[in-house]
Amino acid sequence: MPTCNCETNGCRLEGGVQLPLRTVRDHAHVDQVNRYERARIASEEALRDQEEAIATQLASMTLAVRGQSFAARARLFLFILFL
Ligand SMILES: [Zn+2]
Repeated sequence: MPTCNCETNGCRLEGGVQLPLRTVRDHAHVDQVNRYERARIASEEALRDQEEAIATQLASMTLAVRGQSFAARARLFLFILFL
């Protein structure tokens, strides 16, 4: 029987478990789905952090250019344009 080293069912923690091939494949599939899900969540969190950082910078720039020169307002416009 093949050895399973999956994380989800704890086979790796036990140093590998000998299981029927079909079970090893099932465990590997569950591992893959979990890895994909973790990667998806991590990328969503990274994107959200980035959006918050941009929103904060935009807000501070908008406040900073109030009553400022045309050039300062143009820089803000260009910043928004290239977001
Ligand atoms: Zn397993």
